[in-house]
Amino acid sequence: MVKRKQFDDFYFIKDGKIHTLDEVQEIYKKNNGDISYFQGRMRCPECKEARLSFTHKTSKKREYLSKEPSSSHLDNCSYNYDYASKKQIIEYVETMNDAQIQDKLESALNMLINREISTDININSQVHRDNPLIIKSSNGGNSIQRTIPRKSLSLWLDKEYESKVFIFYGKVKLKVEPFKEFFRLLIYTKRKDETWGYKTKVFRGGFEDEIDENKEYDIAILGYLDFSYGRTPEIKTVKFNSLLYR
Ligand SMILES: [Zn+2]
Repeated sequence: MVKRKQFDDFYFIKDGKIHTLDEVQEIYKKNNGDISYFQGRMRCPECKEARLSFTHKTSKKREYLSKEPSSSHLDNCSYNYDYASKKQIIEYVETMNDAQIQDKLESALNMLINREISTDININSQVHRDNPLIIKSSNGGNSIQRTIPRKSLSLWLDKEYESKVFIFYGKVKLKVEPFKEFFRLLIYTKRKDETWGYKTKVFRGGFEDEIDENKEYDIAILGYLDFSYGRTPEIKTVKFNSLLYR
């Protein structure tokens, strides 16, 4: 039984674009609970098939989007499977060489960044026969499928996600920061007012990335959040090269 999944964003059939959970909560607040603008038109951001419903924020719980129980994802949608644990992801990555990790990140990025392009809700997910977010793991000798959770870098990187492994992704600007004899890659994301704000950084060891600070990059990082340096988290990669930008 797959645990109930929550969605940070969704495919809106009215305009064929990906929208975020925040937008629904804002409309909910502004229109005193009336979200008829979105209601019934929110679909899974990946397969664009499963219908999603919104549960508003209360004093105890934050708002969330979840799949309507009567509705299903397409076969190849990664939301069909339970999320992989940190241990399962690390074991999986251990079996891959550098080129395979880079390929995996490249395919994941293609899928996550291009979600809006196809307006045909059925064909879109059929072409991803080999879904890059689905991994094989073993459970007492049996092969099982698990999904690598995703996290958009435009969203708030909350303490509750600490130590869980995600594919962090998004459109970013980058900058190299020297740190003693090492380097860190600083990551900036676009705010609502279109300006770029500092989001997080990744430790790069002795490797100095060659970055054009004016360029917008697509980035994918397989890693986890580390809050040991204060309120703004750093991302630790699961392997040195489990990071790709282009
Ligand atoms: Zn789906």
